[in-house]
Parts: sequence; C-alpha cells; structure tokens
Amino acid sequence: MTAVASLTTFFSMRIDVITLFPRMFEGPLDESILKKARERNLVQIHLHNVRDHAEGKHRITDDRPFGGGPGMVMKVEPMVSCIEALKTPQSYVVLLTPQGKRLEQKVLQRLSEKPHLILVCGHYEGVDDRVRQLCVNEEISIGDYVLTNGAIPAMVIVDGVTRLLPGVLGHEDSMKDESFSEGFLEYPQYTRPEEYRGLRVPEVLLSGNHKEIAKWRQEMSLQKTRAQRPDMVQAAVDRNPAP
Ligand code: SAM
Repeated sequence: MTAVASLTTFFSMRIDVITLFPRMFEGPLDESILKKARERNLVQIHLHNVRDHAEGKHRITDDRPFGGGPGMVMKVEPMVSCIEALKTPQSYVVLLTPQGKRLEQKVLQRLSEKPHLILVCGHYEGVDDRVRQLCVNEEISIGDYVLTNGAIPAMVIVDGVTRLLPGVLGHEDSMKDESFSEGFLEYPQYTRPEEYRGLRVPEVLLSGNHKEIAKWRQEMSLQKTRAQRPDMVQAAVDRNPAP
C-alpha cells in the first residue's frame, strides 16, 4: 500500500455547510473531482438548511437590524441552534463574510488538515454578530467584493480544501508546482497539437531535456508572476532579503 493510500484509509474529512440555499450546491458537489472524492469517502459533505432550526409557523430566519438601516439580518437563534447541533470538540467553525481574512492557498492548506469543518453562510446584510461571538473560530472572505450570499464562498472552500485531501487528485506532485504553492504563479502549460493557428509549443518542451525544461518553467513562472502579480515577487524578496 502506498503512503497516500494508507493515509486515505484512515482520514476522511467531514464538512457541514449551513445555508439558506442547500440546492445551490447540488451541481458543484455532483460533478468531477468533488463527486469522485465523495463517492470514495475521502470527504463527507453534508448540507443543512438553517430554516429547519427556526421556530414558529413561518420559520423566520431574518429580521430588521437594530439601530436602523437597510436590509435584513440573519437571526442568531436558528444559526446557533444549527451550529450547536453539529459541533463536536473536533469541529472548526468558519463564517463566510466579506469582513473576514482574505482566502489564500495557505489558508486552504491549513483548513484541509482539520478533521471537521462547519461552514456558515450568511445572506441579506449578514449574520447577527452574536453568532460570531458565540460559535465561530475564523471569519473568511473569498475576496474584496460582495456576493449575495455565502453559498458560493462556501463552495470555493469545499472545492479548494477537497482537492488538497490525500488521495483526491491522485497525483500529489502536481500540487507542488501549482500557482501559489511556492509563492509564484505556475508556468504556461501546453498539450497537443504542437502547432495551432501558427502558434508553436516552445521547442524546449518537446526536447525531452528535463533539466532545460525545469529551467524554462522556472523562468516563465517568474516572468508571469512579475507581469501579473508584482506583489508576490515583492513578498518573496521580503521573505528572503539579499545578504
Ligand atoms: N453587509 C455585509 C457587509 O457589508 O459586509 C455583506 C453581506 S453579503 C450581501 C451576504 C452574505 O454573503 C454574507 O453574510 C456572507 O456570508 C456572503 N458573502 C458575500 N460576499 C462574500 C465574500 N467576499 N466572502 C465571503 N462571504 C461573502
């Protein structure tokens, strides 16, 4: 048994998502790598409608904000009740919010090492702050923009975490070169045909010379990062200042 296979025998992550819109997840969870990872029990993903935890005939999950202002706020009681029904000592609760720390690959890496994630999705103007105060370990934003609700941000985390779990991709080496994993963007990739509309694949990639290929990829990776993300190059310089 390989090291990866033996790990996957023992490690299956559980992710619970609390949302008003469980149906939004149906397509993404039932396709491609996420579907296979679930079928192979490498990850267990459970969806919960927060409305099922709301009281009364109308199962109301939102109300007007104290202090006035536009929109509605998600109520504290159904959220806390839903989280507490799922929480164990191993759970790590993440609130999706534009006010959280910005998601990066290293955050996904850290989350992929947790045995149990609970992802809490807001809607309307957000969630009563007492949910954060009582139950949340970390607030995460997927970027500096505002979406209508937390389902898509939660899917981003589910996808990004699942592909990092042992055995899911089946070629763990590919993650080493990937954009962000080494602090730079990935080099350009090509596949057949060798020529398309006059554009030829760089000769070095056809040469079979692995040393030259590695050198070319490193140069391209640096060029691409300089052009698209000078902030990442600067961060690398700051991490390793010249003596
Ligand atoms: N009024 C809030 C604010 O200004 O911070 C925005 C609320 S947003 C319209 C509704 C919900 O969508 C949030 O509670 C959150 O769950 C989710 N959401 C929207 N944009 C997000 C982002 N960039 N990252 C993570 N979650 C986001």
